[in-house]
Amino acid sequence: MVVFCFLVDQTRKMRRTKPVAGSCSRCGRGARVADMLTATRFCFIPFYWRSWKAIVCTFCGATLKTYR
Ligand SMILES: [Zn+2]
Repeated sequence: MVVFCFLVDQTRKMRRTKPVAGSCSRCGRGARVADMLTATRFCFIPFYWRSWKAIVCTFCGATLKTYR
């Protein structure tokens, strides 16, 4: 018997951050450049990873800019 599973989700992880020049447009605190990792999962089994960089604010959680 074959059971089909159509549950696909993505988890986003922030691997490390370091300070960068500039400030958050929402709260005005310091912005940080972050190495991000997105894992796409199918039935809870990760099958695709993508790493990317983003300028984020760790105080309010805003994503200010992304690099793909
Ligand atoms: Zn902020």
